[in-house]
Amino acid sequence: MHRGTRQPRPQRRAGAPGPAFRTHARGRRSGRGAVGCRRGCRPSLVFSFCALVDWPAGTACPASARRRPVPDGRNNRIGGHVSGQDQDQDQAFIEQAIELARRAIDEQAGGPFGAVIVLNGRAIGQGNNRVLGTCDPTAHAEVVAIRQACRETGQFHLPEATLYTSCEPCPMCLFATHWARIPRIVFAANREDAAEIGFSDAEQYQYLRMPVSAFDMHQIARDAARQAMRDWAASAGSRLY
Ligand SMILES: [Zn+2]
Repeated sequence: MHRGTRQPRPQRRAGAPGPAFRTHARGRRSGRGAVGCRRGCRPSLVFSFCALVDWPAGTACPASARRRPVPDGRNNRIGGHVSGQDQDQDQAFIEQAIELARRAIDEQAGGPFGAVIVLNGRAIGQGNNRVLGTCDPTAHAEVVAIRQACRETGQFHLPEATLYTSCEPCPMCLFATHWARIPRIVFAANREDAAEIGFSDAEQYQYLRMPVSAFDMHQIARDAARQAMRDWAASAGSRLY
């Protein structure tokens, strides 16, 4: 990563939730009904947890309550206005993502998932799942596409881009998208569709509902690690991202 002049420390921790996601399902019936929100999210914006985590019933918010099952081929819009031109673009790029997903049938490099990153109407990154081919559990289509898009632009934040993915992002890809500051996601199949052929995306989302104490995590050597962090923060070349 390029290391430049040290930037002023932001009010919030770098990487903490900033701009909300806008998520849009295209071309596939959603298997779920409305989901709720315990965060009181704004009607025009849907934070990822609100849109993609199945909160318990009875906690509906205005934004996520707009998520309704729709017939195949129709836009299941969760948040934000989508013009006719944008819908045409959405349709074209989601079809490209689905075509990338179909590569799995011949390539056998990974699961049937494809993704495209679009900036100003142009695809700047794309990829299909390559977990098997690269022996890399993080080589999901969205991550592959984000890496290519960032290489292409020389930027690690893409605040004007849209992610098109053939299947609803798993939690890792959702947050990789968030780290890349990509504010808009359009997807086709959903986590239940992935579960139908044996993938555990829906199960992975259940982990988000568990307390940290449920994981086998242990904190040791905090002082030494903290000192390394403080030394980095005090160094002339440190740069937040
Ligand atoms: Zn993923």
